[in-house]
Amino acid sequence: MNTEETNKNSNFIRDIIDEDLKSGKHSEVVTRFPPEPNGYLHIGHAKSICLNFGLAKTYNGRCHLRFDDTNPTKEEQEYIDSIKEDVRWLGFDWGENEFYASDYFETLYEWAILLIKDGKAYVDDQTADEIRENRGTLTEPGKNSPYRNRSVEENLDLFERMRKGEFKTGEKVLRAKIDMASPNMNMRDPVMYRILHASHPRTGDKWCIYPMYDYTHGQSDALEKITHSICTLEFQDHRPLYDWFVENLPVPAVPHQYEFARLNLTYTVMSKRKLLKLVKENHVNGWDDPRMPTISGMRRRGYPAESIRDFCERIGVAKANSTVDFALLENCVRENLNKNALRFMAITRPLKVVLTNYPEDQVEFFDADNNPEDPNAGTRKVPFTRELYIEQDDFMENPPKKYFRLFPGNEVRLKHSYYITCNEVIKNEDGSIKELHCTYDPESRGGSSPDGRRVKGTLHWVSAAKGVKAEIRMYDHLFNSSNPEKAEEGKDFLDNINSQSLEILANAIIEPELCNVAPGTKMQFLRIGYFVADLSHTKEKPVFNRTVSLKDGWARVQRNQ
Ligand code: ATP
Ligand code: MG
Repeated sequence: MNTEETNKNSNFIRDIIDEDLKSGKHSEVVTRFPPEPNGYLHIGHAKSICLNFGLAKTYNGRCHLRFDDTNPTKEEQEYIDSIKEDVRWLGFDWGENEFYASDYFETLYEWAILLIKDGKAYVDDQTADEIRENRGTLTEPGKNSPYRNRSVEENLDLFERMRKGEFKTGEKVLRAKIDMASPNMNMRDPVMYRILHASHPRTGDKWCIYPMYDYTHGQSDALEKITHSICTLEFQDHRPLYDWFVENLPVPAVPHQYEFARLNLTYTVMSKRKLLKLVKENHVNGWDDPRMPTISGMRRRGYPAESIRDFCERIGVAKANSTVDFALLENCVRENLNKNALRFMAITRPLKVVLTNYPEDQVEFFDADNNPEDPNAGTRKVPFTRELYIEQDDFMENPPKKYFRLFPGNEVRLKHSYYITCNEVIKNEDGSIKELHCTYDPESRGGSSPDGRRVKGTLHWVSAAKGVKAEIRMYDHLFNSSNPEKAEEGKDFLDNINSQSLEILANAIIEPELCNVAPGTKMQFLRIGYFVADLSHTKEKPVFNRTVSLKDGWARVQRNQ
């Protein structure tokens, strides 16, 4: 299924849009994706991106990329750049429609003056603590500010002086004058502007007052003539305020806000604040660490963009919050890579095998399928020599019953090549295994025996003479707990970090051809899993990240719990 098809599948937002188009309320669909540039995008954002850009695509409308840049103390150009890269990588294009809330600062300021003139906004001198205290609770109404009844003239004068920088950070705010007794806390004279003496990445030092999210967002939607402003459920209670501003201002269009359930994933934290903490405190190696739920982390981990879009389609769009199993995301990745990834052989933990009856300097080349799932993927030549490596796991000196891999006296097939039999285990002085001495059957060339003799195990291998040393990074969930946010008293999500989430295998051996792949190339290592050449991968120092295992290990673990 592609994005377009899923968006054709019905969801409640599509139903609303269909109705709006039918009734003539709207003649085109304009959505927006409005990230705050205070961190990198994560898989939750991908859900919102696929929804907003997907709807625009389905209805032949447009989707704006709008940076919600109203908090200069937390926002940076690096984040803006990464957001653009990630949206593009996910396969979406905003064309000309790149906007910034800061583009509207002047209009927002003028509109705030209109509200003051209408007696619908006032400058408050209370401290942040006083404002909070006087806001009341869910069961008690708030108290009017002693500054609530300032004259329009005084408010205009103070607000202008706020803009001019006459007051210190936090000394005054501008508030909407709505209703301190409203059952909806958001309507109790919400703050519209605060004083913040901070440089802004785009407007520099032009402003020292900054509009709040609730005031900025709907007006930006209106200015851009957004028809369907889609956000997550926690903004449902903000909708009356969204509508209040739109009703009380001379906006050029009337947008409407709709809410859908945010994505939560098992084994994952999704708040940018927490992700920032993981990065800043070096629990991970940056925003694009392959263990991060960021789009850049998943890209580096080798998740194809298509599989993330597929995942977002499969989870759908609902109005009730829920938590999606990480295994579903991994399934989407696996399915995609199974179709598309080329197969290679690599040995993660090498054990040397010497074929004592194989000529010393001989090299044979075997044809290997690049992808059995794709007949057009062709074949490649894999070199075979007297000394080879197999996985340590594929040999046991004293095997249990039903162990079909290599053990003394047993015969197995080496993928694409010959049958071999283990004759002798050579040990180091400390008793550990140094190498295996085996013999091969020249008659079994190509992997089957002319006498019809059958073997049960098939192992992958790499030539010791021709193979190349590589670093393989095995990744696991960053958290031990399926709900990492839930921590015992006195602890937090950091206490749930999985100390085994990264295992570096520095002595892996790969097929020589793998040195030449470009960073980002995705592949399957036979019998091991799906891997990607890391960003740092070079011919001289090959590095691969494990994207996902071949089997659905986590789902199995969960079933057994
Ligand atoms: P976080 O809570 O992770 O800090 P945020 O909501 O503050 O995220 P924004 O940059 O404001 O981050 O989000 C941009 C858009 O992405 C918003 O429309 C928001 O609703 C949406 N979004 C954020 N997180 C999720 C999520 N987990 N699932 C779906 N949509 C999300
Ligand atoms: Mg936000």
